[in-house]
Amino acid sequence: MGRSLSNIVINLGIRDQFADALSQLGFDFEVLAEQEGDACLGNGGLARLSACQMDSLATLDYPAVGYGLRYQYGLFRQVIVDGFQHEQPDYWLNFGNPWEIERVHITYPVKFYGTVTDEFLNGEKCKVWVPGEMVEAVAYDNPIPGYGTRNTINLRLWAAKPSDQHDMESFNTGDYVDAVVNRQRAESISSILYPDDRSYQGKELRLKQQYFFVSASVQDIFRRFKDTHKKFDEFPEKVALQLNDTHPSLAIAEVMRVLLDEEHLSWHRAWDIICKIFSFTTHTVSPEGLEKIPVDLLGNLLPRHLQIIYDINFNFVEELKKMIGLDYDRLTRMSIVEEGAVKNIRMANLSVICSHTVNGVSRLHSELLRTKLFKDFYDLWPHKFQYKTNGVTQRRWIVVSNPSLCALISKWLGTESWIRDIDLLIGLRDYATNAELHQEWKMVKKVNKIRLAEYIEAMSGLKVSLDAMFDVQTKRIHEYKRQLLNILGIIHRYDCIKNMDKNDRKKVVPRVCIIGGKAAPGYEIAKKIIKLCHVVAEKINNDNDIGDLLKLVFIPDYNVSVAEMVIPGADLSQHLSTAGHEASGTGSMKFLMNGCLLLATADGSTIEMVEEIGQDNMFLFGAKAHEVVALRKKGPTLKVPLQFSRVVRMIRDGHFGFEDYFKSLCDKIEGTSDYFLLGADFMSYLEAQAAADKAFVDEERWTKMSILSSAGAGRFSSDRTIQEYAENTWDIQPCRCPF
Ligand SMILES: *Cc1c(COP(=O)(O)O)cnc(C)c1O
Repeated sequence: MGRSLSNIVINLGIRDQFADALSQLGFDFEVLAEQEGDACLGNGGLARLSACQMDSLATLDYPAVGYGLRYQYGLFRQVIVDGFQHEQPDYWLNFGNPWEIERVHITYPVKFYGTVTDEFLNGEKCKVWVPGEMVEAVAYDNPIPGYGTRNTINLRLWAAKPSDQHDMESFNTGDYVDAVVNRQRAESISSILYPDDRSYQGKELRLKQQYFFVSASVQDIFRRFKDTHKKFDEFPEKVALQLNDTHPSLAIAEVMRVLLDEEHLSWHRAWDIICKIFSFTTHTVSPEGLEKIPVDLLGNLLPRHLQIIYDINFNFVEELKKMIGLDYDRLTRMSIVEEGAVKNIRMANLSVICSHTVNGVSRLHSELLRTKLFKDFYDLWPHKFQYKTNGVTQRRWIVVSNPSLCALISKWLGTESWIRDIDLLIGLRDYATNAELHQEWKMVKKVNKIRLAEYIEAMSGLKVSLDAMFDVQTKRIHEYKRQLLNILGIIHRYDCIKNMDKNDRKKVVPRVCIIGGKAAPGYEIAKKIIKLCHVVAEKINNDNDIGDLLKLVFIPDYNVSVAEMVIPGADLSQHLSTAGHEASGTGSMKFLMNGCLLLATADGSTIEMVEEIGQDNMFLFGAKAHEVVALRKKGPTLKVPLQFSRVVRMIRDGHFGFEDYFKSLCDKIEGTSDYFLLGADFMSYLEAQAAADKAFVDEERWTKMSILSSAGAGRFSSDRTIQEYAENTWDIQPCRCPF
């Protein structure tokens, strides 16, 4: 979520009154707002997407509830020591959280472990789960007000507390002190966020978190429904559950279990309900990225759920055989259960089979789902597959974080309505060449660049020139996002400048290259990329031949509030994922809205951005998704450019020091092992960079491109995404609050 204060008073429409009241108390609003710490309850794009969608759900008056975990430790804080990333705990609740409302009376028991027995109830055989451990889930509500509406929705986060009901026995039989200490352990379930972005470790605590989250939320949903309904016939009409990736997909087995074992519905009726209430959004592009849970782990922690998943799978495979015959390869691929040395449950297969709708997050991603990842399922159920290109909220990403741009847009459009109705932004196109707007537009960018430059100086002591192009790549550090390509490009630029004579140096377009992002603590290559960035920066920034022509800064601890400061101050932003690897990408949308030009591969949502603003207004480069497989196959026969070999050689030869440490990094991108195709895309990347330099010198052209970027950002509002979900996936209507 990041910070809340500014967002909340703006959405409530009371920002100015609030600032006035504060100043009467002797406080400055801006200064006060900066004191708030970030709520870092997610890893990166996926969680921030939910935050944007909550803002849109509230603003568009949809009746929605968001569920999650109230981690005591959010995503680690990144500190850099001698150029290396170190992780520090983010104990964000230390001084209390003023936005949350503890609901001491809204608690549910959550059970784990134990055994399943057969019992008879009214002559019918039924399953009874006798759990071995029980904890209590306590609700903490975080209100999300919409903009320009009285509607406020709720983000309900669960905290784990020891349960009083269950382990009384252990006090009577065992050691009193041990029993108390054991109870304390319950709280560990919601204590920490796993810091891995896009990878799964199959850890028991992680599985416990998932079920804890799912069980409490499902009990809450059933309680709400049963408050006003006696029978389950209406359940599918009243309830829609959206699975944001597979993390909450145990909800499928949990709803089934409640309907069967607690509400005593027949399998047939329960299954019918399941198929009508779940829909699934996947954010993955490769089979290796799909979540799997070892059967042993699941069977031990949740024995009844494993039975139910097996039953769902048995029925599915039987039906499938009737439809496709005994095609064992295909049956094996589609089964929820993966056989092998370690038997696994494939959570994505479970989700696809049990959901009425499967959503991709961009058009290209949807194409990849239908033709590759879920091809077998698409051939069976084409009607299930849709896509909703992701979006971000203009409230936080323009109104809150870039107030000067916000005022400028409203002035030229003659209305503030675009804050609720993003399509109006297109009106800026009429003024794309207007000299007066150009002047004001450049002023706004300047103000934001000054703010960013001051931050850089305060943080690192480095003074940067405001005339330089601010070139930004901020996002989680991943091999597929190719921060390494950026750094190699910077080394190349440095090398070129070094080898120029005085006259040629005068023609160089000065740059401030800014890189930021966290690496998962166990992701060694990503951590080496961070170190490489620092040693290269050290060399370049202290080279008197270079001066203001090139600077490189790493901004530590990239999070939502750092993003809010960095994005408005960027001239150029880089989105370099190897085509076909970024399902959507949302960072690019925030930059686009803020009039920052994009240098990007044709991947995820950037393909759709080209359609909105035109190829001429973006710097596209690199292999297309459909070419990537062929390029990889070429492997050893692929010619890499001399420029590429030269910069890698510089690292290997210790030009920046630490050559032993960087050896494995260099090995990863040379020869046959260059999986993410840095070498293959290098020349095209350099050409795009040269095109960006050329455009930047032509101020009028650059400003026009910048205006057209903002003007074309309408399609990338989460308002549009949510509208599409409401109409095509959930079938819900806005529910306006009466005044
Ligand atoms: C938007 C955002 C992201 C996602 O950025 P991508 O470029 O799509 O990877 C990650 N982290 C933070 C803090 C963000 O605000």
